Amino acid sequence: MRKARKLDVACPNKICRTFNKIGLKNIIRKGKQQNGTIRYQCTDCKRTFARTINTPFFHKHLKKEEIIRICKMLSEKTSFRAIARITDHHLDTIRAIATAIALHCKKFNEYFIKELKLSPIEVDEMWSFVKKKKKIA
Ligand SMILES: [Zn+2]
Repeated sequence: MRKARKLDVACPNKICRTFNKIGLKNIIRKGKQQNGTIRYQCTDCKRTFARTINTPFFHKHLKKEEIIRICKMLSEKTSFRAIARITDHHLDTIRAIATAIALHCKKFNEYFIKELKLSPIEVDEMWSFVKKKKKIA
């Protein structure tokens, strides 16, 4: 069976010879996680990893759609408490997501624009809001 090779994904294993190199056809799909996140495997070092590794979605139990919803509310300057009430998540969960997003800030602007189809202005607004919140906390 021919497996789909992902050309835009690089192996995250620092000791792998293909580490951080894209376009080598060494990444294949390898099932899904419980929350629907796709897993990949490097055919070189055999390591498997979540598609969301190095993104704010990594190690979050919430579904991607739910995190996107929260991001959009953050970009609308909705308060953490209001988001917690609307989404039925714990306030700490919302804080954790906002913190994860803030930490990944600049590096993932492109990711948010490309994958989540937010406009650059929406992304900008989300960041400035998250930064403001961090100063207060
Ligand atoms: Zn590898």
